[in-house]
Amino acid sequence: MKKLGLLYEGKGKKLYKTDDENLLITEFKDDLTAFNAEKKGTEAGKGALNCKISTHLFHILEAQGIKTHLVDTLSENTQLVKKVSIIPIEVIVRNRATGSLTQRLGIEEGKKLPFALIEFCYKNDALHDPILNDEHCLLMNLVKSESDLEELKRLAREINSILKKFFEARHIDLIDFKIEFGIDHDGNILLADEISPDSCRLWDMNTHEKLDKDRFRQDIGSVKGAYEEVLRRIVSQ
Ligand code: 5GP
Repeated sequence: MKKLGLLYEGKGKKLYKTDDENLLITEFKDDLTAFNAEKKGTEAGKGALNCKISTHLFHILEAQGIKTHLVDTLSENTQLVKKVSIIPIEVIVRNRATGSLTQRLGIEEGKKLPFALIEFCYKNDALHDPILNDEHCLLMNLVKSESDLEELKRLAREINSILKKFFEARHIDLIDFKIEFGIDHDGNILLADEISPDSCRLWDMNTHEKLDKDRFRQDIGSVKGAYEEVLRRIVSQ
């Protein structure tokens, strides 16, 4: 597989073309950003940790029937992925209230939600990823039909129940996470992007220690040490 020119550079990853028009190479960066990139940092080795964690989680999901863009791991911080057209909706799943949910609705911090809450946000940095309802998604043609929205919700719930159980067995509380989906050249909806401590909130079940990007957002200690701990726990057993 030949790596060709840079196709796109995002906050956390770079995407390269390959000599196969249906495949891309994604490179996980060491950069850290928060608050719509108002806060920036870098942590050597963070990209490799996220690549390893995300690869492991995508394999767990694939094994349970979730279709993803992941094809192969090429190096510590690069994956070979199927080319998809990203649906510009950030799908957020929440099991406990924190972050923007508590800020928006005043729900008590850390409160266990009675069911997994699914939210959609418009993937648009210039607009600060605003929250969307189903009608906004249809009005703006972010998806083709209402049934695609239902499929995104179904997949998000399924992914949540698989990952929640997986993390629980490793004494990690999956508080919330953001996922993205894409459409491949056959029209299938695939899980794309990444699932890592950059895109999830993960709390130690006993101590409630934060093992995710909130450590960077809130300046509460080593980011890399926490990500290493997440990797250690998910690859053990
Ligand atoms: P909140 O809406 O509370 O800020 O975030 C909810 C969850 O989605 C958190 O796990 C957070 O890390 C993730 N999330 C929300 N927006 C983004 C984003 O633009 N990029 C990444 N990587 N994660 C996000």
